[in-house]
Amino acid sequence: MTATAFSSLALPQELTDNLSTLGYTQMTPVQAQSLPVILQGKDIIAQAKTGSGKTAAFSLGVLAKLNVKRFRIQSLILCPTRELAEQVAEEVRKLARGIHNIKVLTLCGGVSIGPQIGSLEHGAHIIVGTPGRVDDHIRKGTLRLNDVETLVLDEADQMLDMGFQDTLDAIVESIPNQRQTLLFSATYPKSIAAIAERVLSNPEMIKVEEEQ
Ligand code: ADP
Ligand code: MG
Repeated sequence: MTATAFSSLALPQELTDNLSTLGYTQMTPVQAQSLPVILQGKDIIAQAKTGSGKTAAFSLGVLAKLNVKRFRIQSLILCPTRELAEQVAEEVRKLARGIHNIKVLTLCGGVSIGPQIGSLEHGAHIIVGTPGRVDDHIRKGTLRLNDVETLVLDEADQMLDMGFQDTLDAIVESIPNQRQTLLFSATYPKSIAAIAERVLSNPEMIKVEEEQ
């Protein structure tokens, strides 16, 4: 039998507790295929349809390796829209409950930049944002990503459809090459293969077929 219980993973206790509180006991197929690889520190490209649990897959990977005592931006999660970024931040916060002093900050467009600059001055461990606003902060010098260890590109196909390719390339330029990169997408068009070639290093490909 394949191991699909979260308890088969060596996750920190707080995460295991939060998973049971949320009622997550069994991993979804994309989680079962990607989490063991993510926890080994490898880059992945994971393709699975909407609603398959991709958010928890990368969020658990990000949280499992986070060092909360080191108050630096250790992870950047990029999403296509503010709505999606807010959903992802909410899921990250739920999975992070009980991790003392953890700070998750969202940086999205459509709201004024001033308060975000103020929040950035106070620091964060994890940034969840949209490419345009994250790039604005980098250009202004209000966001420094030189301590990022994990980069997540969520809904990568949608980000490329929205024309964010150059913005993504610019953001990646300011993140250390020595990092783990996790790319999640519902589809795998040629444009994703091209950006993956530039941004990921020796990625493992995970594809969850739709069950009929
Ligand atoms: P995707 O990003 O693949 O479209 P989501 O990450 O938004 O999908 O997950 C879809 C729904 O499944 C969410 O409501 C989430 O809370 C739920 N979910 C994720 N993983 C599990 C799990 N292992 N067990 C139960 N529910 C889960
Ligand atoms: Mg998603």
